[in-house]
Amino acid sequence: MKTDIQIANEARMKPISVIAEKLGMTDDDIEFYGKYKAKITDELYKKVENNQDGKLVLVTAINPTPAGEGKTTTSVGLGQAMGQLGKNAIIALREPSLGPCMGIKGGAAGGGYAQVVPMEDINLHFTGDIHAVSIAHNLLSAMLDNHLQQGNKLGIDSRQIVWKRVVDMNDRALRSIVVGLGGKMQGVPREDGFMITVASEVMAILCLATDLEDLKSRLSRIVVAYTYNGEPVTAGDLKAQGAMTALLKDALKPNLVQTLENTPALMHGGPFANIAHGCNSIRATKLALKLSDIVITEAGFGADLGAEKFLDIKCRKGNLKPDAIVIVATIRALKYNGGISKQELAKPDVDAVNRGFVNLEKHIENLQQYGVPIIVTLNSFITDSKEEITSVKEKCEAMGCEFAISEVWEKGGKGGIELAEKVLETLDNKKSDFKFLYDENDSIENKIDCIATKIYGANSVNYTPKAKKSIKRIVDMGLDKLPICIAKTQYSFSDNAKLLGRPEGFDITVREVNVSAGAGFIVAITGNVMTMPGLPKVPAAENIDVDKNGKISGLF
Ligand code: ADP
Ligand code: MG
Repeated sequence: MKTDIQIANEARMKPISVIAEKLGMTDDDIEFYGKYKAKITDELYKKVENNQDGKLVLVTAINPTPAGEGKTTTSVGLGQAMGQLGKNAIIALREPSLGPCMGIKGGAAGGGYAQVVPMEDINLHFTGDIHAVSIAHNLLSAMLDNHLQQGNKLGIDSRQIVWKRVVDMNDRALRSIVVGLGGKMQGVPREDGFMITVASEVMAILCLATDLEDLKSRLSRIVVAYTYNGEPVTAGDLKAQGAMTALLKDALKPNLVQTLENTPALMHGGPFANIAHGCNSIRATKLALKLSDIVITEAGFGADLGAEKFLDIKCRKGNLKPDAIVIVATIRALKYNGGISKQELAKPDVDAVNRGFVNLEKHIENLQQYGVPIIVTLNSFITDSKEEITSVKEKCEAMGCEFAISEVWEKGGKGGIELAEKVLETLDNKKSDFKFLYDENDSIENKIDCIATKIYGANSVNYTPKAKKSIKRIVDMGLDKLPICIAKTQYSFSDNAKLLGRPEGFDITVREVNVSAGAGFIVAITGNVMTMPGLPKVPAAENIDVDKNGKISGLF
């Protein structure tokens, strides 16, 4: 079997202008970043404003094994299959972050014969959007520390600064640091820390902003610290929003690339799926809906986190209405949820698959609450057995879901025809009656309670004293009428990564509650959520190389 990068290197890419043309755009509508990447101009938005919207299909998944279960691979393959069926489809995805790429996960441009290309560019620096987010974020940090240095007119309490610095790398040594050491001219000493760039509120804002004006006003609302009197200090108070917006001007434009089979793909924005909402930009999704008949998009982690936030945060902010949801399951993740260890997942075991099915069952029930038709797809691995597959299919169909096997990793678009046909049938015959899970005007506690009981299956929610205090502060600031973004482990419905399957009788503990006032959501943190990952014992970076001709190897 060839590696992802070998397959990607053999791709017959078309010039990006040809891909743009497929979508009815001319060279005037795009800005070229080399031959195979382009940004879409702001002017195009006005041109297509009155086009009818296409159908929106969300791809999500069950609780995964640590390796990922193929949401991106399935999204890309489904798009390729639509292309094979002669449909006008666009794939709208997040762009990869360098941290996981160099760490444990490898790239994030799909896999096998379902990939977005040029994969090296996409996985490394792409069009510089993540750089722009880092530098806009760090400008605000620099202005904040400079404000302290220059006399601290706003009265910022340096022990209550909530704005850390960011870098797009997994670098655990930067999690907690002290800045400003070295004397009077070197700043005011204080505790600080780094997060990975995709955890920045600036990234979440970029992905939720509707245009440059909205971007600027959201940036100005970011809360960076509190004063000695407990009053919030914002980016606007530090007069940072204009320069930050200037740095992000081009990053707001969606990036156009293509799949191995020349299907158009918009890859734009990549917020974390724990402390942020974990989906690509509203701007790219909305544009894709104007440019095509079918838009396939992905939400991070399992459906308890990713789909819930896609539906309750992104759709609410962007006025989007999904027409169908594809849930990706794998035999190995079902076995993992059935209690089989990571090392044993390749061995056929129908009983374990059946035990683990309760996880998929709960995800199906959850998403049925939103009123959107569901298609379950098994992302097929060479190790899957017939009995295992049949058993899952029967159980899904008994729950009223469509079911299709997907072999896109092995066969590209051809391997996704069955899935694409099921999706098309669903779009034609089943009506989406989409509704949100909760009312954003409800109290913070009620909203969290609603997600915890209805989606996670928890008994109740506990709050630490710190969390209770923060909730009170958010209410006092008048910022409590915002949707909730829960940060939780992706491996379990509960806040304990070890409780697999469909846990019951558990409580969720909210440790910390923060407001992302610019992004416009309230973050409730459960468990030990990491905003700066570390590298594993053998980082993927050890195997990445480039030869004397500039050919890169080792990305996957
Ligand atoms: P997710 O988006 O859910 O995190 P990805 O689509 O990025 O998952 O896939 C994770 C990894 O698994 C990738 O390296 C991909 O190549 C690999 N992969 C996905 N589907 C298959 C499959 N059917 N067989 C083998 N490997 C696969
Ligand atoms: Mg993915």
